Amino acid sequence: MLAAILHAPRDLRIEELPEDQPGHGQVAIRIRAGGICGSDMHYYLHGGFGTVRLQHPMVLGHEIAGEVLATGHGVTTVKAGDRVAVNPSLACGRCRFCLAGQSNQCLDMRFYGSAMRVPHVNGGFRQQLVCEESQAVKLPPDMPLEMAAFAEPLAVCLHAARQAGPLLGQRVLVTGAGPIGALAILVARHAGAREVVATDLSPSPLALARRIGADTALDLRANPAALEPFGADKGYFDVVFEASGSGAALAGAIGVARPGATIVQLGLGGEVPLPVNTLVAKEISLRGTFRFGEEFAWAARFLASGDIDVAPLLTEVVLLRDAKRAFELAADRSRAMKVQLAL
Ligand SMILES: [Zn+2]
Ligand SMILES: [Zn+2]
Repeated sequence: MLAAILHAPRDLRIEELPEDQPGHGQVAIRIRAGGICGSDMHYYLHGGFGTVRLQHPMVLGHEIAGEVLATGHGVTTVKAGDRVAVNPSLACGRCRFCLAGQSNQCLDMRFYGSAMRVPHVNGGFRQQLVCEESQAVKLPPDMPLEMAAFAEPLAVCLHAARQAGPLLGQRVLVTGAGPIGALAILVARHAGAREVVATDLSPSPLALARRIGADTALDLRANPAALEPFGADKGYFDVVFEASGSGAALAGAIGVARPGATIVQLGLGGEVPLPVNTLVAKEISLRGTFRFGEEFAWAARFLASGDIDVAPLLTEVVLLRDAKRAFELAADRSRAMKVQLAL
């Protein structure tokens, strides 16, 4: 089988890998669709992010879906031919966080296409993959696998929404309208938000934000003061999803969040300055959010039922042999929202 293997920044090679056989409790999957995520882009462009660096060649990819090829002994929930979304996260199930229901904080996490541990855990941009039964989430037989490959980033946003508390009737600000921001808009709408405002620095993601349900989409490069009216009378928004990772966006959010609001930080941005006095005086809750747990299965379900429609986010499906072009396209925010590989 072929796989997209990153050797060094911008050195992505399509190479042959041996196929694996499923052992007891395991499932072999013919991967068909793989979405390129921000973290894949960081590996591709810079060889990693923060302290996480590529130490040896690694298969990229963790937003994947396909068809079951074969099952090992003891597998009961899926059979050959079933379509599945593949959960890229494999927690140990035994550490204190797993036992406390915080499997996303697992001390022995194996996450596809991640260089956090050495040797790295290979990712899912490959034609065949063997995973644990619990990672293969069954889909309806007619479900398009391109849509199913959105289960992972949608799960991230569902987990983030739970950090915010109930969204019904809330006024929501989403800062950063890339794929994660766009999915946060869809989740906020699905959860009954009264009003959704999105910001970005680029016109094309904002146009998409409007199309998928943002009431207002503000270009802060064209008009840096566009959020100012929302700062009147101590602020307007009940909930903010900060999906840009920019310190300026977080500071702006603190300025327009109402007293008692919750800001959920989704974007990774290293160290950013924080207007602490405003945060304190307005009693704002600033919360992190990391990956997901049970929300992966919920995401697969919302996608299968059509309750959350991600189709407008899919920019292009690119053949595996053109993976380099797919990554270059994904890096261009003026042209790309979500780019996928057809594996
Ligand atoms: Zn991702
Ligand atoms: Zn664990």
